[in-house]
Amino acid sequence: MDAAVIEMVEVGPRDGLQNEKTLIDTTAKLALIERAIAAGSRRIEVTSFVNPRAVPQMADAEAVCAGLPERDDVTYIGLVMNARGTDRALATGRIDQLGAVAVATDTFAMANQGQTSDGSVEISRAIIAQAQAAGRTGQATIAAAFGCPFEGEVSEDRVVQMACALATAGPVEVALADTIGVANPAHVSRLVGRVAAAIAPIPVRVHFHNTRGTGLANVWSAVEAGARTVDASLGGLGGCPFAPGAAGNVATEDVVYMLERAGIATGLDLAKLIAANNWLADVMQRQLPGMVAKAPLFPRVAEGRT
Ligand code: ZN
Repeated sequence: MDAAVIEMVEVGPRDGLQNEKTLIDTTAKLALIERAIAAGSRRIEVTSFVNPRAVPQMADAEAVCAGLPERDDVTYIGLVMNARGTDRALATGRIDQLGAVAVATDTFAMANQGQTSDGSVEISRAIIAQAQAAGRTGQATIAAAFGCPFEGEVSEDRVVQMACALATAGPVEVALADTIGVANPAHVSRLVGRVAAAIAPIPVRVHFHNTRGTGLANVWSAVEAGARTVDASLGGLGGCPFAPGAAGNVATEDVVYMLERAGIATGLDLAKLIAANNWLADVMQRQLPGMVAKAPLFPRVAEGRT
């Protein structure tokens, strides 16, 4: 491992909230984004431009964009699935980067976005091209890269092949997503290593859910295998409609604690993340899954220092 710095992407406002049954209002979403920025986040997945009937929680995508803080140093990411979503995202004038999603299996691709796996790769490539034509950037995520809720095991060769096809469109990175939280560290090490070698110099981002308690171990394994960017959600919010009862994304503050304690800089402020977790727990009216915020701060900050 040679990474002294890992970039974090805050996905709480989108992946964290999208399956919450109680509608979170736009003001609270913007407050979450402001707290993430104050804690040091410089890449934030702020919303998705999808059918509001399918994902009611994201129906205020345009309103969220209109309220985003004017920051030249923050990259705002909008998730899109098709040309209509791309047009909506670009029309806001506030989305810096389009996030496209390709799905590793046909059955999941059909259920999630009504297309084949190959079709999802082609649409992702088109989304990245449209982003570039509009003077923005694009990124691609391979969903269900480590396992599918319908088809079970996913071929590693298939994921490497998809990553190569996506890389030719020139995304800022290709992400491997454990959408349903079934990955294990050995699998992560193998697949991140293979994909990183196959698409270099384009970097690898990873996206893990802690559904079965392997989230942090998978992050560590991915970083050791050469991933450069890690998605995480404040408080560990976030589920998946195809993984009922699932825990959420890996918690931003837990990942930051682990990496920073191991000497890997993230640019994020742990104390501010913990404060943001406490604020978000109030908004959600429940304790959040993240662990670090429930424990005493360690090491303790000396008196008089900030
Ligand atoms: Zn996710």
